[in-house]
Amino acid sequence: MGDAAETLFERIIAGEIPADVVYQDETTFAFRDINPQARVHVLVVPRKKYRNVGELAEADPQLLSDVLLTARKVAELEGISGNGYRVVFNTGSDAGQTVFHVHAHVLGGEQLGMFGRPQGGVH
Ligand code: AMP
Repeated sequence: MGDAAETLFERIIAGEIPADVVYQDETTFAFRDINPQARVHVLVVPRKKYRNVGELAEADPQLLSDVLLTARKVAELEGISGNGYRVVFNTGSDAGQTVFHVHAHVLGGEQLGMFGRPQGGVH
């Protein structure tokens, strides 16, 4: 989709930028978010680049499933699958997506807050 430029996450997967890798396999790569929003905050990225989760779901549902299975694997490795965790895919600017290589945020390790509106904001 006119996305020839290499994204930050491709450079992390290639080992050109260091990351705290939690898990990797043939199709997915998981590493800690540099600016964690919970005690556990891991990003799960498919090695192959799609801009967002909708494009991934349309083009390669098996790979989307791989991403979600890796999210579950990360939760198990981090010891948070029992108490629960949240999986988030930001899509586009209102959601705050900043890296246009689809990624799941895996959040947990503590009771998570509500989400959906700007901090402290009401409509
Ligand atoms: P999003 O805003 O959904 O596109 O998520 C991008 C995420 O990447 C943010 O939560 C950032 O904190 C995270 N991030 C940015 N640079 C790095 C990096 N070098 N290593 C790990 N996570 C990063």
